[in-house]
Amino acid sequence: MIGLGRFGFHLAGALTALDQTVLAIDRNPDRVQRWADTLDRVVQADATEEGVLRQLGVADVQRAVVAIGASVEASVLTVLALVELGVPQIWARATSAKHAKILASVGAHHVIFPEAETGERVAHLIISRMLDFIEFDDDFAIAKLPTPESLVGRSLRSLTPADRHGIRVVGAKVHGESFRYATEEMVLERGSMLIVEGGIAQVQRFATLD
Ligand code: ATP
Ligand code: ATP
Repeated sequence: MIGLGRFGFHLAGALTALDQTVLAIDRNPDRVQRWADTLDRVVQADATEEGVLRQLGVADVQRAVVAIGASVEASVLTVLALVELGVPQIWARATSAKHAKILASVGAHHVIFPEAETGERVAHLIISRMLDFIEFDDDFAIAKLPTPESLVGRSLRSLTPADRHGIRVVGAKVHGESFRYATEEMVLERGSMLIVEGGIAQVQRFATLD
């Protein structure tokens, strides 16, 4: 993990929680000191220096994440150094659309743009009753939302195409119970959470029903 700003630190913590061994690098000694007790291994170094990264053993890692945001130059030069070292999977964080293009052309395998992605996702939550929303490239989405009041007590079999708004109910979860995959016999209960899938506009429409 290169760069321990807010994004890099949270990502490093989440990876650690997933039982991954994380080597974190930041050039700022204050940042290094701040997270030294929380993360496995935190090193102070300028990641734009290929030789320094090599000395730290970065040539042997399977995956590297460049979480530097504000300095486009430092972010691009770090990706370049990782490409030169032959790191198989390079993830890089962009802070603008142009930054994203540059990172991809320098050789990053995966470019993420958290501010844009989170902004788009949260917009869907704000204008609907969805509690979670994942959008896929090809106009397809999955969402979590409470059962619409107008459909409480109905079985899935009884829902008409007009009730469904083009979506498919994948499953449901009543508070305190475990998730169940949907069957045609399943009855929609008040307060239960639904997982639905479908086209983005259809899911959005279903999630604005009362
Ligand atoms: P965030 O938006 O994630 O909070 P930030 O705004 O605090 O980040 P950024 O400029 O995006 O700061 O940089 C993230 C981290 O990357 C900082 O802790 C910074 O010290 C570190 N960093 C910047 N350049 C380098 C570099 N060349 N080598 C190593 N670390 C670097
Ligand atoms: P981001 O992390 O989303 O890129 P940022 O780091 O650029 O945000 P923030 O300090 O989080 O900056 O503030 C976001 C925006 O809110 C800024 O454009 C700032 O001018 C504006 N802002 C801050 N305080 C107020 C306020 N009291 N009233 C109106 N706008 C404000």
